[in-house]
Amino acid sequence: MNIILLGPPGAGKGTQASRLVEERKMVQLSTGDMLRAAVAAGTEIGLQAKRVMEAGELVSDAIVDGILSERLDQEDIARGFILDGYPRTAVQAASLDRMLAEKGLHLDHVIELAVDEDALVDRISGRFSCAVCNTPYHDRYQLPKVEGVCDVCGSTEFKRRADDNEEAVRTRMAEYRAKTAPILPHYEAQGIVRRVDGMAPIGAVGQAIDDILG
Ligand SMILES: [Zn+2]
Repeated sequence: MNIILLGPPGAGKGTQASRLVEERKMVQLSTGDMLRAAVAAGTEIGLQAKRVMEAGELVSDAIVDGILSERLDQEDIARGFILDGYPRTAVQAASLDRMLAEKGLHLDHVIELAVDEDALVDRISGRFSCAVCNTPYHDRYQLPKVEGVCDVCGSTEFKRRADDNEEAVRTRMAEYRAKTAPILPHYEAQGIVRRVDGMAPIGAVGQAIDDILG
């Protein structure tokens, strides 16, 4: 199974991708990781990317395609891959289709973790965690049983991410729509877009994805 996993920050995409890597031994292909690996390995295309990045320029589609192409030639791809952060434009999606076809590969599903923006704001803007053991809490939905004391480790220190607030969440949603909306019609035309309720509990989201993957 080869998939693209889409979803705005906060929808649990990272959690689900990690689980698929762990449980199904799928390979996660993130463009950032692949670029760093190619640069570190000193491949021809990696050296090209290094020169471009050192010049402070954006890495071109051609270089990303080259790096992805090299990665797709590695044997572990046979276990199935999860594309993360690529493609971002219809042009890149068409280029990916051609590349996969040349290698005798194809995409099975484009899975979008769909979220309700207001509900996502409500969920993210209230969250905090124990500063010692990282147990997650929420101002409205999951307060410690004893106020100010972690249920798990008894710590009285908590932390909150600076960007877990309404404005930051709405900005991330707008960025996601701008970056992702252009590729969905491309895959909808192929009939491979599947939507999963990203607002459901983590286990239910995982089950829905498993149902799609079979
Ligand atoms: Zn704790």
